[in-house]
Formats: sequence, C-alpha cells, structure tokens
Amino acid sequence: MFEKVLIANRGEIALRVIRACRELGIKTVAVYSEVDDQSLHVQLADEAICIGDATSTNSYLRADRIFSAAEITNVDAIHPGYGFLSENPTFAQQCHDCNITFIGPSPETIASIGNKSFAKNIAKSVRVPCVPGSEGIIDDEMEAKNLADSIGYPIIIKAAAGGGGKGMRLVNNSVSFCKEYKMVKSEAEKAFGNGSVYIEKYIEDPHHIEFQILADKYGKIIHMFDRDCSIQRRYQKLIEEAPSPFLSEKLRNEMGNAAIKIAKKCNYQNAGTVEFLVDKHGHYYFIEMNARIQVEHGVTEEMTGIDLVKWQLLIAAGEKLTIDQRDVKINKHAIECRINAENPLKNFAPCPGEIVLYYSPGGHGVRVDSHVYSGYIIPQYYDSMVAKLIASEQSRELAIKKMYSALSEYMIRGVKTTIPFVRAVMMDKGYITGQYTTKFVDDFLKRTPTDALDFKNC
Ligand code: ADP
Ligand code: ADP
Ligand code: MG
Repeated sequence: MFEKVLIANRGEIALRVIRACRELGIKTVAVYSEVDDQSLHVQLADEAICIGDATSTNSYLRADRIFSAAEITNVDAIHPGYGFLSENPTFAQQCHDCNITFIGPSPETIASIGNKSFAKNIAKSVRVPCVPGSEGIIDDEMEAKNLADSIGYPIIIKAAAGGGGKGMRLVNNSVSFCKEYKMVKSEAEKAFGNGSVYIEKYIEDPHHIEFQILADKYGKIIHMFDRDCSIQRRYQKLIEEAPSPFLSEKLRNEMGNAAIKIAKKCNYQNAGTVEFLVDKHGHYYFIEMNARIQVEHGVTEEMTGIDLVKWQLLIAAGEKLTIDQRDVKINKHAIECRINAENPLKNFAPCPGEIVLYYSPGGHGVRVDSHVYSGYIIPQYYDSMVAKLIASEQSRELAIKKMYSALSEYMIRGVKTTIPFVRAVMMDKGYITGQYTTKFVDDFLKRTPTDALDFKNC
C-alpha cells in the first residue's frame, strides 16, 4: 500500500480523498493556489504546498509544479480527483515516467476513452448502441453541414475533448449550422486545446443514466449499477439518484452488461463511469465514458455500501478487487443535491463571496461532502459547487422526504445557493413520480412561482 499520496485537486473531492487515505493509514499532501490557502483540504492534509496563483492554468493545471511538490514531499502516488488534470493522458504518462502511481486508468486508456469521439467507436466495436451521428471527428465544415442536413435537425455539435457540460451546441436548423460549427470549434480549441468536433442527433427529452464501473489490474471488472442524472442545468447535473427510478430490471441488466463490455474493450482499470442517454421508448445510447471518479459517486456508495475512493487507492496499489458482481446489491435509495453558490432565478449565475454563516444538516442517512464553513470565502475562479448533500433511505419516497427535511435545516448565509431550488424540486410532482427527463429544470422553472424559490429561509 502507498505511504503518501498527493491530491492534485481542491474543494470537497480533495477532502474526500484525504478521508479515504486516513482510513487506510496513508499520509496526504495537498496542493493549493494562493486563494485557497484557507481551504479545509489544506488544513486537513498532513502537508500542503502552494503551487501558484488563483487561475487554474497557473496552479491546479500546472503539472510541472505538481511534480515539484510530489518530489519535495516524496509521494508514491497522485490522486487527480475530477476536472483539472484527471483525464489528461499526458499527465498520467508523466506520473509513470516519474515513478509515481497515477490513481486512475492507464494513459493509453485515458487517451482512447477520454476522447468522446474515439469512445463512441469503441462502443460501436462491441455493439453497444450509440447516438446516431458522424463517424468520428469531422473537420470539414461543408461535410459536417451536409451530414447534419441528412441526419435531420435538431442536432448537437460536440467537442471530442469536452466535459463539464462545456463544448456542446444545439443546432435547430441548417441556416445556423455553419455559425455554430465555427463557434464550437474555436471554443473547444480555447477551453480544451483541441478543436476536434463531432455531430450527434439530438435525442428529444432523454434520461441521462450512467453506470459505475470498478476494475482491477488483473482483468476483473464489475459494475455498481446506475445513477439517474437527468436533472441538469446547462448540460451539467444538479440532482442525482441511485438507482434510476426509470429503468426496468431488464434494461438495468442490459445496460450494466453494455457498460462492462466497453470497459473491457479499453482495458479499463480503476473507477470509471459509462454514460448513456435513454429515450422514452427505453432505447439506450452510449454517449461517453468518464475515466475518473465522478462528482456523484457518493450516491452509489450509499446505495451499495461500497467505498469507491478507498477502492481506487487499493486497486492503484495493486490489490485485487475482492467484490464479485453478485455481491453488489441495491441496498438503499440515495439522492444527491449539488449545493452550488448560484442564483437559480438568474439562470444559475455564479454567486461567489463570503459565507457569513454555515450550518449543515446531519442525522441518520444524511451525508454532507463539503469543504466550506462559516467565514469561508468562495473564490470566483473555480466551479461553483460548495457541497453535496446525500440522503439515503430504504425507499425512494423516504429518501425524498429525508432530503427535503435535511435541506430545510441547511443554512448558508451570505451567498445565494441552489438550496431553495432543490428543496422545491423535492416537493414537485414531476420529480416525485420519477419520470423526469433532462428537460425537467426548464419546465420546472416555468411552472414554479419565483417565491417558491425564495432564499429567505435558506
Ligand atoms: P461529473 O461528470 O462527475 O458529473 P461534472 O461534469 O459536473 O462532473 O464536472 C466536474 C468538474 O470537472 C467540474 O468542475 C467541471 O467543470 C470539470 N470538468 C469535467 N470534465 C472536464 C473537462 N473535460 N475539461 C475541463 N473541466 C472538466
Ligand atoms: P459532458 O462531457 O460535458 O459531460 P456529455 O456528452 O456527457 O457531456 O453530455 C452531457 C449532457 O448533455 C447529457 O447528459 C445530456 O443532457 C446532453 N446531451 C449530450 N448529448 C446529447 C444528445 N445527443 N441528445 C440530447 N442531449 C444530449
Ligand atoms: Mg458527461
């Protein structure tokens, strides 16, 4: 087992990794930007090293500085968390070159599955259905337009290196195609350093359902069932639950097997997630695989009782996966609300600033993963998520009630958050029936009076 692990990340996921390391008796090294010097991950790690100023490109994305920190502190391994360098094959390769274990899949696997267009080809090669669209990357604008015309609108143009809901554009007609195509390409170039794009048919009103994978170094791969992440804003998840209320037992098994086929084909190791869209007829389509731990991994942990981050560490250290597929059980229903410092009434605009008072809920079946506290200043430079609240119970109905009650206790004063929004969702019939799709947030905002989303009590 490792003696010391460096966590190349910040916020709640850095804390999550520190906790798992502590339980396994592993020492931890935090890295941080100047603006994060008061962050809990810096205080809770055994050692902490400042790697630059607030902008990610000068700190959390600076592989060279992270390696300097790793060398000074003499770590055995690096956990990349999510976002930042977590799906960067060059970074994973550099770790290997420095004799440091990268806690994640191999650089080759990341390079293939991390590119969304290549990933679709992998899925197709093992006969997993994909959203209809271009055969891979499409570099020529006129060729792209002709294809979009023949597929039929609406279509979606996606950056192959995209993620976090960025690098995607919906095109409703032929007239606007060329303008949007140029936009996605230039945005992708800027944001991901890779302007490759591909085209997909836009699936109307889909469910986003994903499968958690765990794979060791010896070829054993299991899935840990599904999560429904259809409640999104700007193509990014806001509320997730496990298991999905939409899937039948038959579809669940079929999609779980499909996810394992894809993971096998790309020699997957460690934790990963295979994402699908499912239409109203129950047809499922692979969209991408995330070669890292995901934000919403906690709902799977609460549902199954299996600690995913500990397994990430154990697997990377060469331990065998001792859980068999038949041992993975849906023991509970778990729901997660992402608590973001955002104003839901202003199109979820970020709301950084000082948290003047913070009180988080607790009790049986309530889990809060967060790095903030009273007096914490939310920087404007990073993701707006400040906490993840997870409620788990014996049934979905009870989990919703627990979530509502926990949200009513949650106090974050000084900044606007998504608390009133997600609390109102827990009372919404459309949510309670479990038949919601990715259109939910738009429809919900239209039918919900703004005073129901009032911040006064939150
Ligand atoms: P998940 O897929 O785990 O639900 P999100 O899409 O919410 O995660 O992304 C988690 C974090 O990682 C966000 O801060 C997001 O901006 C960032 N992120 C994810 N993918 C990428 C990417 N390809 N490039 C840059 N940042 C990314
Ligand atoms: P990211 O890498 O940013 O996570 P994904 O490819 O996983 O991007 O897509 C994120 C979300 O965008 C999906 O959950 C879904 O809501 C929407 N989306 C993506 N592709 C399509 C599509 N072909 N049709 C309809 N919605 C889509
Ligand atoms: Mg995705």
